[in-house]
Amino acid sequence: MSFSNLGLSNEIIRAVNELGYTEPTPIQIQAIPAVLSGCDLLAGAQTGTGKTAGFTLPLLHRLSSDKNLKTTSNGYPPIRALILTPTRELAAQVESSVCDYGKYLNLKTMVMFGGVSINPQKRLLKGRVDILVATPGRLLDHVEQGTVNLSQIEILVLDEADRMLDMGFIRDIRRILSLLPKQRQNLLFFATFSEKIKALAAGLLNRPQTIEVARRNITAETVAQKVYKVDRDKKRQLLAHLIRQDNWYQVLVFTRTKYGADRLVKQLGDDRIQALAIHGNKSQPARTHALAKFKNGSLQVLVATDIAARGLDISELPHVVNFDLPNVPEDYVHRIGRTGRAGASGEAVSLVSVDEYHLLADIEKLIQKRLPFEIVAGFGANLPTKPQEIPNGRKENPKPKGRKRPARSNATGSPKTSAKQSARRTVASSLPTQKC
Ligand code: AMP
Repeated sequence: MSFSNLGLSNEIIRAVNELGYTEPTPIQIQAIPAVLSGCDLLAGAQTGTGKTAGFTLPLLHRLSSDKNLKTTSNGYPPIRALILTPTRELAAQVESSVCDYGKYLNLKTMVMFGGVSINPQKRLLKGRVDILVATPGRLLDHVEQGTVNLSQIEILVLDEADRMLDMGFIRDIRRILSLLPKQRQNLLFFATFSEKIKALAAGLLNRPQTIEVARRNITAETVAQKVYKVDRDKKRQLLAHLIRQDNWYQVLVFTRTKYGADRLVKQLGDDRIQALAIHGNKSQPARTHALAKFKNGSLQVLVATDIAARGLDISELPHVVNFDLPNVPEDYVHRIGRTGRAGASGEAVSLVSVDEYHLLADIEKLIQKRLPFEIVAGFGANLPTKPQEIPNGRKENPKPKGRKRPARSNATGSPKTSAKQSARRTVASSLPTQKC
């Protein structure tokens, strides 16, 4: 199968060829014809599967085929496609992909997210914008100020919709939906299916085509997963030891809390290992700077919390470390999805103290796999140590705080996931959908 068999225009095929894509990925093979046909789509695909091109390429094709564009009061065509993402980083990444794939088309793309000044965004909105990539909070800021007009949207994409719901964006999403024209195409992408996604899809999608590329919650086979049992106080030394001993040059490390991320960066610095943190309390320029350095290879260690790292596309990342295991088992799958991508092999290492054995058991249950463990001499778990309660971290279903708007990149939480809550189903088995 090649891209030219999928019905895309020559300009789009030229752009993907230049990016070195020789053939479409499984999600692209299914999603591209579905979106080109104009039907709604419910698609289960994790990052790393090529899902962004899966919705962007046909979206670009559809928008660029429309030659009779009306102009609006500003003298330009209206915004015709809206892509909503849960995080700023994902929004920036999606916009960059849209620009890459659409480089030979006469379409203008804009990204908007919070944490940066709103004024440059207002200026851009006065010009031509065909495709708007946005996080829900900042988009609503523009709505409130009357600086964006969503009344001519033809295609809506909810990217990583499950994470948007986890982050408490449901009210914002409903509000945005109420501002869109009734007649439009809706594309809903999620990584993990849940009752909440089912409810959202039922209210949003019209006779959607459903596709799902990887079985839910199964971790990529190209990722070697390892667990080191370690004393809770020796994690930092063990991490430094592994980085040095195995010459790790590009490591993404996950911590449970923002404070933990900052503390680890400082401690690694004391060990003369260069690290920066990326989390919700960091300013947007600091986050962008850290990510850019990490991506271009000039930063050895990037320490991140789950929400901040969500959707980061760092190609062929060789090592992911769970410095703390996540409270929500699905986050383990998302975390290690940063490595072993697009066929490249990678290693996911978890440093597990006695306090986290129950979290490890939850993860193993979810991925239906026992993870092999090792103990490194000198760092070994003193098994008689009593487990301590884990105080913080992302939990499932956080309640929005204060204003109705949820905390934007740093959701924290509510009660621990029950087995029932975390039970996931596949799309095909639980959603009564029809083919478009
Ligand atoms: P995504 O799942 O959209 O985050 O994409 C993951 C990575 O796969 C990105 O770095 C894309 O550039 C890359 N990618 C997407 N489609 C293809 C393709 N058909 N062939 C090779 N790489 C691809």
